[in-house]
Amino acid sequence: MALVSTKQILEEARKIGYGVGAYNVNNMEQIQAIMAAAKETQSPVIIQASRGALKYSNFTYLGYLMKAAVIENPDIPVAMHLDHGNSLESVVKAINLGFSSVMIDGSLLEDGKTVSTYDYNVKVTRSVVEYAHARGVSVEAEIGTLGGIEDGVGSEKMHLTDPKEAKRFVFETGIDSLAIAIGTSHGAYKFKGSVNLAFNILKEIRLLIDIPIVLHGASSVPKELSDEVNKYGGKISGATGVPISNLQEAIKLGVSKINVDTDGRLAITAAIRKVFMESPEKFDPRDYLGPARTALTSLIVAKMKDFGTSGHAKDYSPISLEDMKKQYVSR
Ligand SMILES: [Zn+2]
Repeated sequence: MALVSTKQILEEARKIGYGVGAYNVNNMEQIQAIMAAAKETQSPVIIQASRGALKYSNFTYLGYLMKAAVIENPDIPVAMHLDHGNSLESVVKAINLGFSSVMIDGSLLEDGKTVSTYDYNVKVTRSVVEYAHARGVSVEAEIGTLGGIEDGVGSEKMHLTDPKEAKRFVFETGIDSLAIAIGTSHGAYKFKGSVNLAFNILKEIRLLIDIPIVLHGASSVPKELSDEVNKYGGKISGATGVPISNLQEAIKLGVSKINVDTDGRLAITAAIRKVFMESPEKFDPRDYLGPARTALTSLIVAKMKDFGTSGHAKDYSPISLEDMKKQYVSR
């Protein structure tokens, strides 16, 4: 079993300077697709579930499917990560399901929409760190807010991370990785006009903090994919994402974890639409979910190569959560 914490995956990535994608999952085909890509490219991988995804699948189903990914791929370091936990309660639920890593997003209140205060963020994050570390589970938190809404999470107001506040936050909470806001957004419509990421802020943060940095809302939304969706009857216009060259620049400047959800959704939708349009006589779900799975694998294989993750699955031996727990206690 190579279930590991995100802390280990990201710290190993930082040593060499590559990025690791964290790919959102809702169902079996997505999980299988991502794991097939990880196996093909020999990449460590973070599979992450949002609260919305866990609710959709009634928690247990998705939890067990993610565990199956770990069991089926003993040679691949896999982290099971909760995306945008909103309270200690949501984190406890994920850890009870076997997650090795959690995010607590205290930049927003529990409703996942209202921007919170710094003090609230510190308080909720500290309570999660205490609970998670006692179980060997690593914690990601966020400071600053992204634009856009996805899975019901997001204030739509963008508030770029203040580097000095980030430094204080890391010190006061003891988190393992920090999600920052430098201009990315959740969803498929990230930029009106040209892409504009605040690399100067990223550079400043990197100088001030010494833990892995996370970029949310980092799908590239390639035009070929939205064109493909539209070609088969979809209606997506004006969608823009973060070009891969910007992500590679961000990795060079110290970003270790890159969250990708939208691109996977587009790849799946394009593949399913294609089958429906070209073969309207088909009605076996495997006839369209199968091609969707294949399309997603190709997308993730490309990401793993672009982020530099490929080939690093066997660089290190996995640290069990039990051993992580000891490391945290002795700190
Ligand atoms: Zn996010």
